[in-house]
Amino acid sequence: MKKIIHVDMDAFYASVEIRENPSLRGKPVVVGGSPNSRGVVCAASYEARKFGVRSAIPCSMAKRLCPEAIFVSPNFPLYVSISQEIREIFYSVTDLVEPLSLDEAYLDVTSNHFQEAIATKLAEDIQTKIFQTTNLTASCGVSYNKFLAKIASDWKKPNGIFVIRPNDASKFLHELTIGKFYGVGKVTEAKMKSLGIHNGKDLYMWNREDLIFHFGKAGSFYFDIVRGVDNRNVNPTRERKSLGIEDTFSEDTKDHGFLESKLDSLVDGLEQRRLKRDIRGRSLTVKIKYSDFTVKSMTRTYPSWLEQKEEILSIAKDLFFQVWNQTKSLRLLGIALGNLDRENLEESEPSLFDQIES
Ligand SMILES: [Mg+2]
Repeated sequence: MKKIIHVDMDAFYASVEIRENPSLRGKPVVVGGSPNSRGVVCAASYEARKFGVRSAIPCSMAKRLCPEAIFVSPNFPLYVSISQEIREIFYSVTDLVEPLSLDEAYLDVTSNHFQEAIATKLAEDIQTKIFQTTNLTASCGVSYNKFLAKIASDWKKPNGIFVIRPNDASKFLHELTIGKFYGVGKVTEAKMKSLGIHNGKDLYMWNREDLIFHFGKAGSFYFDIVRGVDNRNVNPTRERKSLGIEDTFSEDTKDHGFLESKLDSLVDGLEQRRLKRDIRGRSLTVKIKYSDFTVKSMTRTYPSWLEQKEEILSIAKDLFFQVWNQTKSLRLLGIALGNLDRENLEESEPSLFDQIES
């Protein structure tokens, strides 16, 4: 049986800003754009969360929910450098580290550099070292697979450790509300509820075939996880998955109107795929292929999820006109969402881009 720890920094960006400016401590802090801009919230301190402020909501809404909130703009270079510090701590424990974002990672500590048999002891040491090194707190989930470790890290936040042992898993999962299952996003949650699945116990009653019928391959994953079965390895060389769509034209072209309408329909198609998979991304890539087959691409990454079709379209157009040398004809145009909010639950994603012809 494996020993997996999921480490997740507590309100990471907000906690960093409070560390940098201690007068913010104990106050509702919102990291993001100014409340009068069209920006969205990147992170909120626990004090701000009490008012319902969450990442990805518009800053103007955050201001309405919590008029006393203090807005701070994000300092990504600082977050990246702290992320490197905490990763060094992870690598001091095990080589099997799978970062999920700047502030969280899975660690397989079944065998580790300290020959420590008790994973909870390692989790405590990691918390202590993170605090000594960064003056920030992290929460750890300890269990025998990734799914349970991920859920456990969220259970005793902030600065908590929660352990799910093999004998406790089934009771824990039966009582878990369906939205708390990692991999069940908002769209899937609504669909589950419409089928009468409100918690793990309800989900447990379904057989694999019926879940696959309603949820595709992800249904098989849901069938397993509610039984505490998740055989995914901690993958230290995890490739960044993306969700993309591309179109090869029947004739090479540099016609603006044609290309803009293609971009429109690609964004439409991407949105359909995104909703079908209930997935979100934080970066957008535009890829073009010239008539001589040279490929160019440009990516832009955002602190918050790209969930608005209009927003994705305007970013796509912006990137497209930056990357395209308008004197040259194009044979292909593609867009892709990256920095996805979860691992792709479908095993067979053949390539970065789904091919379509026109
Ligand atoms: Mg976190």
